[in-house]
Amino acid sequence: MIEQKPPQKPFSAAILNWYDIHARRLPWRSPPGERPDPYHVWLSEIMLQQTTVVTVGPYFDKFLTLWPTVHDMAAAPLDGILTAWAGLGYYARARNLHKCAITISKEFNGHFPKDRDQLLSLPGIGPYTAAAISAIAFDKAEVVVDGNIERIVSRLYRIDTPLPAAKKEITIRAAEITPKRCAGDYAQALMDIGATICTPRSPSCGGCPVSDFCAARATGDMERFPVKAPKKVKPTRRAVVFWLERPNGFVLLRRREEKGLLGGMMEFPSTEWQEETIPVETAIKNFFSNDFQKRANRITEKAMVRHTFTHFHLELQPVVISIKELDKFVMPRGQWAEPKEFGRYALPTLMTKVARTVIKDRD
Ligand code: SF4
Repeated sequence: MIEQKPPQKPFSAAILNWYDIHARRLPWRSPPGERPDPYHVWLSEIMLQQTTVVTVGPYFDKFLTLWPTVHDMAAAPLDGILTAWAGLGYYARARNLHKCAITISKEFNGHFPKDRDQLLSLPGIGPYTAAAISAIAFDKAEVVVDGNIERIVSRLYRIDTPLPAAKKEITIRAAEITPKRCAGDYAQALMDIGATICTPRSPSCGGCPVSDFCAARATGDMERFPVKAPKKVKPTRRAVVFWLERPNGFVLLRRREEKGLLGGMMEFPSTEWQEETIPVETAIKNFFSNDFQKRANRITEKAMVRHTFTHFHLELQPVVISIKELDKFVMPRGQWAEPKEFGRYALPTLMTKVARTVIKDRD
């Protein structure tokens, strides 16, 4: 239900004037009015999907140091990208980042396309990212709607429809107030206002440049928006994870399949992640040969490791097996590595937690 429609020109002028003074200084940004390097915009936008500005900052710097241009990134091995990305989560982004760099380097001679539809055809670039790159890097009049902008627009108009169903209405309203010029600065200004003023809790409406246009502020129920559909309860999956250690201290890592969750990353081998609890004895029985089991008399269970993904919680029961027969043990896609060298492998946060738990428990 639309209760108020801000006039476009004074509205966007208020936003842009605010941005001239208050723009956040971020490593991938150029000052208001100047165009940043599209490679930087693309890299930052991919990293910022589902990840905070504070977390992304050091990763962005590291990537630019390792690969100053898109050609450099295209020439890098995927494993190098995954290792540098380790800890940032949502690893499909890293694989698509590499694919996209190769496409830009080979098919576009290193130049990112300006057009939203062409950007959309590239790996890892969805509607939001295409609009953001087109607006921020090339100043195209694209409508950019991230989580911050979603919140601001839903408050400006007091949109009662719960998310995610409200997305369409929010995009229509956002389009109505997006200016034809300076769309990049305008989008970044809204992102900044959402991050620093129009926050989810206790928005600082007194310092907001568009408070005069805001329907929620007029009624005083800002925090009610955006209205959200009740959250579904996340299921919990469970597995036994094996820390297989040779007498020389080397531990078995395994590369995950390329496709799917944590695809292409390294892991400690584990049983299937499923909702039913699998007893350790059963896990060992299913995982190893009878002969191996007879010899595997040094088995220790460690403290449970818990991790939460977007759609489920995970509980991993680490089991340490340290016997000399492991000298001959092989596993498809497996690789033996010294724990002090783990930093050189693409280990996701979850597996770093497993390593920390096993090592800490031992100290
Ligand atoms: S007036 Fe308050 S609720 Fe409205 S957009 Fe500004 S900060 Fe957000």
